[in-house]
Amino acid sequence: MIRKRKARDTFGFCKLQGELNRVYTRRMRLIRELTLLLPPFLAAVMVKKQCKTLKIEQLTVDPSGTKGALAKAIYTMPDSLFIYQKAVWLASQELGYQVLLESVRPYHTSTIHYGCGGTLVRNQGQYDHAPCTKCGRKVNTHTNAAHNIASLPGTLLPSF
Ligand SMILES: [Zn+2]
Repeated sequence: MIRKRKARDTFGFCKLQGELNRVYTRRMRLIRELTLLLPPFLAAVMVKKQCKTLKIEQLTVDPSGTKGALAKAIYTMPDSLFIYQKAVWLASQELGYQVLLESVRPYHTSTIHYGCGGTLVRNQGQYDHAPCTKCGRKVNTHTNAAHNIASLPGTLLPSF
């Protein structure tokens, strides 16, 4: 009887272990795919906009912090510098001039309403739009953050 239960528990543990392994393998495949797809996509946008500089925000997120789901989503995104270096290189080839790669120190880029100075308060589960406490407008948080990042001074990063 005892032996039987023990055997079943071992099986349950093995099953869970196997499922976990599958999840991690899937995550690794997705990240690898994103790493391959991101540079040409970013380069295409830069070529279309005739971009002179690509500014990236230094995001070091503690996934165990209080920010929860969004922080975790950012944390698991591929953020290796190589992706942006490759994107800039591809865009430079197409545009015929060197596109600069700069990093920007994060400064409330997702919470300050660009050009207004008010604060954007995101509701639970709402990531794409947020109302501004000062002007009351409903703001697209992504384009707003991009405007903020573009307006900040950057530090030149090495590109290849
Ligand atoms: Zn505002």
